[in-house]
Amino acid sequence: MYDIVVIGAGASGLIAAGRAAELGAKVLLLEKNDRPGRKLLITGKGRCNITNQAATSELIKQVHPNGRFLKHAFSVFSPDDMISMLSRFGLECILERGGRYFPESNRSVDVLNALLEYNRAGGVETWYSCRADRLLLTNNTIEGLSIQRGSKLSKVTSPSVIVSTGGQSYPATGSTGDGYKLARACGHKIIPVRPALVPLETEGDIAQRMQGLSLKNVKASVWANGRKLADEFGEMLFTHFGISGPIILSLSRLVVDEMLSGKQPTIVVDLKPALDEKQLDKRLLRDANEQGKKKMANLFRQWLPQTMIPVFLDITGVDPEKEAHQLTAAERKKVLFQMKNLAFEITGYRPFKEAIITAGGINTQEVDSKTLQSKLVKGLYFAGEILDLDANTGGYNLQIAWSTGWLAGESAVKQGASLS
Ligand SMILES: Cc1cc2nc3c(=O)[nH]c(=O)nc-3n(C[C@H](O)[C@H](O)[C@H](O)COP(=O)(O)OP(=O)(O)OC[C@H]3O[C@@H](n4cnc5c(N)ncnc54)[C@H](O)[C@@H]3O)c2cc1C
Repeated sequence: MYDIVVIGAGASGLIAAGRAAELGAKVLLLEKNDRPGRKLLITGKGRCNITNQAATSELIKQVHPNGRFLKHAFSVFSPDDMISMLSRFGLECILERGGRYFPESNRSVDVLNALLEYNRAGGVETWYSCRADRLLLTNNTIEGLSIQRGSKLSKVTSPSVIVSTGGQSYPATGSTGDGYKLARACGHKIIPVRPALVPLETEGDIAQRMQGLSLKNVKASVWANGRKLADEFGEMLFTHFGISGPIILSLSRLVVDEMLSGKQPTIVVDLKPALDEKQLDKRLLRDANEQGKKKMANLFRQWLPQTMIPVFLDITGVDPEKEAHQLTAAERKKVLFQMKNLAFEITGYRPFKEAIITAGGINTQEVDSKTLQSKLVKGLYFAGEILDLDANTGGYNLQIAWSTGWLAGESAVKQGASLS
């Protein structure tokens, strides 16, 4: 018999178990992999962008679809609290651009080790290679769960279970969507899950021909049905299937939802966002006049990265052998237009196994935001990516896991104390 069982030794489960144990509960942590934190280890390209310095109001803005649900969780356990907690277990963090915190050592394994130390200090018992199979209820109250180890099924008794099984993205790390099945069997509604922060596939071969090219300081906008829906400024990348990179990942959530609602979105890239059309046109004209003897293919080197030039000349129909002084007004207009509006029709998005995060999940309307306890089943709590909450890159998704894990662990202890 345990006071609390936590399912999943990922970011949110490790914090939930550690916090509950710190408050004196007898905690069992279950992990179906043979080791903890597999996803945590690959975060931030192995460096782990732990959290973001942003104030609560900004954190809330970064979270979809209802950041306000996390107002209490963020206030109970903030980014500063996380940094202090890690420091308590010997891990110092450094602040980088955009308010992003990383471990000073630049190694995500050190974040995992600090969390494991937190769990050890509280006396959390952990069973690896152990899969939560089914939640056991009586009168809509948790009484334990059935678990599978090898081919053997058995029962664990507990009045509180925290489901922190993650989403469905990068399933090789263990997040295969099990938690949705556990919750659905208890009557919870699951908001349909979709890949988010995911690369996009594009029509034709324009992107493919530039694969490997990364563009900095560009602006990408999402358009659908003749309307601009959103834009992002920063870095993007061309790949063998289409487009990726930070600003594309940020826009992908909207693109995926537009596609699922039957629309055909387009990403329009402004390659020169610092110049308006008039300024850019003046510059094109000046360069063409001053360097009239240069071939167009060479003149373009001043304007665009090398890999892009042949593709761009094809799109605009400008002859690369033509001398700059021969560029017609109509051709210049075309060049100008494409520099400000390089369009990519989106034909699809990459699968869950390439998505950084899962959108959708446990409907937050069925969860108490003050405790993270289910409104349908007493003693059942949710934490982390399993909830219908996701955020942009920048350390926000892990902060969701830390804050909800902490709150769920703490609430389960308080609820248990009030029962005994
Ligand atoms: C490549 C990549 C890079 C990322 N980088 C960052 C970053 O730098 N910063 C950031 O903020 N976010 C980042 N994220 C997102 C972040 O990793 C997640 O938001 C976070 O890990 C979610 O934590 P979680 O505890 O909810 O789920 P997870 O970390 O996925 O943990 C869930 C755990 O539950 C276990 N489990 C599942 N089902 C069962 C079961 N039935 N029984 C027992 N155990 C089970 C799984 O094996 C897993 O260990 C990144 C994601 C990816 C894929």
